[in-house]
Amino acid sequence: MSNIVAIVGRPNVGKSTLFNRLTETRKAIVDDFSGVTRDRHYGVSEWTHHSFTVVDTGGYVANSEDVFEAAIREQVIIAIEEATAILFMVDVTTGVTDLDDEIAALLRRGKKPVMVVVNKVDNNAQQSDAAVFYSLGLGEIYNISSMTGSGTGELLDELVKHF
Ligand code: GDP
Ligand code: MG
Repeated sequence: MSNIVAIVGRPNVGKSTLFNRLTETRKAIVDDFSGVTRDRHYGVSEWTHHSFTVVDTGGYVANSEDVFEAAIREQVIIAIEEATAILFMVDVTTGVTDLDDEIAALLRRGKKPVMVVVNKVDNNAQQSDAAVFYSLGLGEIYNISSMTGSGTGELLDELVKHF
């Protein structure tokens, strides 16, 4: 059975940028799903002879803040059910937000392997800013730049240990 890696997190942290970097082949959006299911995109990736399915979550089209947060919550719950390992992405430029804390609480209860991925660490000066994300209580953090690819090798080396 194939390993499934779900990328979850708030909008705009860079989930789709990492997904595109990992998968290369972009899947067409399938329209006859509804709601949360339509908001999940699947792609195939490979690292050091391990192939796995990557799931990108969320466009989060919603007409109110409550619906919006509920959609993110539902994506996290599906990820906990279906994923082999979860990449919880946060953004070094915003620091820890309330929504990050809420997602972290769900993930801690979920009992699936979670890796905290601190994105947008584009330069060395930002490495120390990332340390605030230890407060999420999910253990080690992995600093990356989805844009440049910096740090993604180390992240994937650790990720495949969960397979
Ligand atoms: P998503 O909503 O979580 O899927 O986020 P996107 O992948 O759509 O990215 C949101 C914005 O962040 C876009 O403007 C990206 O170009 C930008 N972005 C993504 N990764 C990085 C990064 O590593 N560094 C910087 N500076 N910007 C990034
Ligand atoms: Mg996206």
